[in-house]
Amino acid sequence: MSETIFSRILSGDIPADIIYEDAEVVAFRDVNPQAPVHVLVIPRKPIPTLNDAQPEDTELLGRLFLAAAKVAAQEGIAESGYRTVVNCNAGAGQTVFHLHLHVLGGRPLQWPPG
Ligand code: IMP
Repeated sequence: MSETIFSRILSGDIPADIIYEDAEVVAFRDVNPQAPVHVLVIPRKPIPTLNDAQPEDTELLGRLFLAAAKVAAQEGIAESGYRTVVNCNAGAGQTVFHLHLHVLGGRPLQWPPG
């Protein structure tokens, strides 16, 4: 897989405001936040899009969501409410082709999203 800005964050080439990490998953603040809390949760494993996830990634996908919930609790938005988003491919707004879960909260969120 080709290098992305997120693989460069994982390798330490470029800085990020990392707020959670474990053996499989890293979470850091989005550089262009769309809400008071906007965190990206990514797997260390480079999976370009959700379409590329395989059956052997089942546990890893679960870990992304569990990390998102941990981040939400850590950021104090677990009870007020937050949204998790995965943009898959350019038509949905994906710009970085390393799978990531957006965690957005800290303000009222509208539905449906744009
Ligand atoms: P996507 O549009 O779903 O692919 O989300 C990519 C996200 O990565 C966007 O919300 C960007 O603001 C964010 N982003 C891009 N570069 C960086 C960075 O270097 N650090 C943190 N977030 C970034």
